[in-house]
Amino acid sequence: MAPRVIPVDPFDLVIFGGTGDLARRKILPGLYRRFQAGQMTDAGRIIGAARADLTEESFRAFVREAVEEFTPAARRDEASLAEFLKHIRYVAIDAKGEGGWPQLKALMRADVVRAFYFSVAPALFGDLAERLHAHAIADAQSRIVVEKPFGRDLETARALNAVLAQHFDEHQIYRIDHYLGKETVQNLMAVRFANILFEPLWKAEYIDHVQITVAETVDVSGRGAYYDKSGAMRDMVQNHLMQLLCLIAMEPPYHFDPDAVRDEKLKVIRALDPVAPEDIVRGQYRANGKAGDSYADHAENPESRTESYIALKAHISNWRWKGTPFYLRTGKKLRARSSEIAITFKEPPHSIFDDERGWRENVLVIRLQPNEGMNLMVMIKEPGPGGMRLMQVPLDMSFAETVGADLDDVPDAYERLIMDVIRGNQTLFMRGDEVEAAWAWADPIIQGWETRGDRPQLYDAGSSGPEDALMLMHRDGRRWRDIRE
Ligand code: NAP
Repeated sequence: MAPRVIPVDPFDLVIFGGTGDLARRKILPGLYRRFQAGQMTDAGRIIGAARADLTEESFRAFVREAVEEFTPAARRDEASLAEFLKHIRYVAIDAKGEGGWPQLKALMRADVVRAFYFSVAPALFGDLAERLHAHAIADAQSRIVVEKPFGRDLETARALNAVLAQHFDEHQIYRIDHYLGKETVQNLMAVRFANILFEPLWKAEYIDHVQITVAETVDVSGRGAYYDKSGAMRDMVQNHLMQLLCLIAMEPPYHFDPDAVRDEKLKVIRALDPVAPEDIVRGQYRANGKAGDSYADHAENPESRTESYIALKAHISNWRWKGTPFYLRTGKKLRARSSEIAITFKEPPHSIFDDERGWRENVLVIRLQPNEGMNLMVMIKEPGPGGMRLMQVPLDMSFAETVGADLDDVPDAYERLIMDVIRGNQTLFMRGDEVEAAWAWADPIIQGWETRGDRPQLYDAGSSGPEDALMLMHRDGRRWRDIRE
């Protein structure tokens, strides 16, 4: 069953930073796929903007190369690509200068959705917002899309929010967290709130603990200097893992409406307890048999104390979750690329079976990558005549198999989110107060280890992370799930 495609309204999407890495790898190939699927119609237009003095033809050649490089051959065709390129324009603009703005203004059409993707360094957000208004290119209906990192602490996030707020209302600002655009993340909300089955059990009384894992195999080489100023807490936990935690922990919103959903997420962040130092493990990968392959080498900073791995135990102080820990971990250069949320339920209060050898808890596993899908681990009777023996089997709820969808036809996170911008739907975007609340939680943690001068524990590249991270769970009588694809 092919996904249902509802075409979006006519639009002009300006991509500031249209020649950058993000545009090349994600935004432009994603837009091509939406064009090919018929969601972006002939009335949609994409305008690349950057300082480079490119002709429209050379920018189109750049877009062609980007699409060819980042769209599998089986998923593209020459006819639709040639057609897509007809919808591409280019303007040379300096965010900090005056050149190019009148040309951009002349290019923009009236009576279409105007969206501006700020795919540039956050330091330029203010300049772009200011000039879009000074040149009367943006109006009260226009939308802006901003990328991570949204600040590096509460103070800088507040300053960014304030800069954008000078020219745009909150309903016009789309802060991207691409984790929220994943099919399974939305499916999680459907499973929770469109069924009666899980919600009565969705609380501390029945849930022993929650594990959220985002494991990567990549290292930081190539962006070591940037990463070294950030680290796993700022780069992954404060935004992506926090958003996943919110979706698991939030109360049912009164409606699937942007502010209703975001109000509930905000309440979760505000209910998070401060994290004690003993409940956090920071790690940094070291070379495993290959010289020059450690974090310090990649960051070009032998003294670096930045973490490439973090594991922590979070508590949410509210009626629903008091007593249920949320264990979060993420890291680079780990043994496998795997992102998942695992919700482990408590044991039944009393067992009527003598054979408990095969007994395990129910676990709901939500896989984000690879192989998006869900599994519910349940106990059944082992088939055969051997008496009442128990075994655990997965109830596979992966939507692709069940609804027969071709996974390749399902839009990736960026495709979906950009279409949501054009549709004017902010549900899957972070609101300013959410981002600030997440920094307010993360800041004291970061400040604590900066003040103490804590060094991260070294772990072997290709391993599951530092030893102490295992202990974080062991001492609570629990264990991490294996990291595997
Ligand atoms: P990038 O490869 O360095 O590209 C930056 C883009 O901005 C280029 O097109 C550059 O073109 C343009 N630019 C720079 N200064 C400009 C100015 N003064 N006026 C107008 N345009 C200017 O960066 P990127 O990796 O694409 O990242 C863009 C944003 O997305 C950043 O905020 C980054 O943190 C965020 N992000 C990126 C990724 C990723 O995977 N790359 C992932 C998540 C978030 P000219 O030099 O020709 O002006």
